Amino acid sequence: MATVLIIGAGGVGNVVAHKCAQAADIFERIILASRNKAKCDDIAARIAKPMATAQVDADKPTEVIALIKQVKPDLVINVALPYQDLPIMEACLATQVDYLDTANYEPPDQAKFEYKWQWDLHDQFRERGIMALLGSGFDPGVTNVFCAYAQKHHYDEIHAIDIIDCNAGSHGHPFATNFNPEINIREITQKGKYWEKGQWIEIEPMSVSKDIDFPEVGPRRAYLLYHEELESLVKHIRGLQRIRFWMTFGEEYLTHLRVLQNVGMTRIDPVRFEGHDIVPLKFLKALLPDPGSLGITYAGKTSIGCIFEGIKDGRPKKLLIYNVCDHAVCFQEVGAQAVSYTTGVPAMIGAAMMLTGKWRGQGVFNMEQFDPLPFLDMLNRYGLPWKEKML
Ligand code: NDP
Repeated sequence: MATVLIIGAGGVGNVVAHKCAQAADIFERIILASRNKAKCDDIAARIAKPMATAQVDADKPTEVIALIKQVKPDLVINVALPYQDLPIMEACLATQVDYLDTANYEPPDQAKFEYKWQWDLHDQFRERGIMALLGSGFDPGVTNVFCAYAQKHHYDEIHAIDIIDCNAGSHGHPFATNFNPEINIREITQKGKYWEKGQWIEIEPMSVSKDIDFPEVGPRRAYLLYHEELESLVKHIRGLQRIRFWMTFGEEYLTHLRVLQNVGMTRIDPVRFEGHDIVPLKFLKALLPDPGSLGITYAGKTSIGCIFEGIKDGRPKKLLIYNVCDHAVCFQEVGAQAVSYTTGVPAMIGAAMMLTGKWRGQGVFNMEQFDPLPFLDMLNRYGLPWKEKML
């Protein structure tokens, strides 16, 4: 029985709070904290299990340290923004408390994400005898666990992985992002990148696309993006010769994005406006719908998985492992759309793996470094059943 401190009360934080409450045999005490306490109170009021709430600015390690000392958690789940990863990890190091997140660090003034900053903390976590689990969402997260499972149970060698991510749902807004707009737009407007035969190959943003037949939703146009799990999977999957990440976007979304880019609204550098410095992308975030509010009108499904090609017992083998998730069903259960749901459920399960000792280590780890089976078992039991199909 454990105490968990959740930081971040957006779309994903809402799901994590609901799901930890559902697994009350593991999460005895839950504290939900964010920059804006009223958002935490709103979420807590919709959950039957009582939970404490708190205000914290997670950009300031001293505030996080004070909160940790006050509530004494066994684990901090960071579902604020990637900018807060390092300050929260610093606070966990200072207080010797385990850490988990769903997205890797990126510096606010540079649209660039990589694991280096967090991997560099491995020795400090190890020396203090604590554990950090990175990227426990869906992608990264479940996709890494699918890879670990394929490596352990299906292949002698995996040669190629294509991670395929389709949101075939519709929220009814002309333009909205499914998770934090600032992080989402930074991710897709940077250069694409994939790994082949030992080297990274960079491409212009959204310049490579193809039609993919997504399980249970059918063919959709998907674009090659760089995504953070590629960096850790290249290290941990044996015999890998190529790994790519593909995500679908509708025409309407791409047209809006192109216009916003063309007029400078996706810039992340400050612009002087009437005596104030304004970062256009942050201002745009303030105008766009809150991802946590999209669920009420969302219809349709997400379909996310991994296609593997490799060798088993001397013969070639091609396999798809995937999950399909319905926006409306998620909304009915926890008041969230499927993108928040598919991130929040694995965050809770990653936390459960750590707190029950099924996944233990001292240092900083990625998901594919642990036994996939107990995690996959909980996915089936907590709302994200997965399937496999020979291709
Ligand atoms: P939201 O913007 O909806 O929520 C972020 C929350 O963090 C808000 O409550 C926000 O507060 C809070 N926050 C921001 N800055 C601070 C701060 N300095 N101190 C304390 N709290 C802060 O984002 P989402 O819920 O959509 O996404 C959460 C995370 O999940 C992101 O890091 C995102 O990248 C990640 N993600 C991961 C995925 C995966 O599959 N691995 C997929 C989707 C998302 P406020 O309300 O005041 O702004």
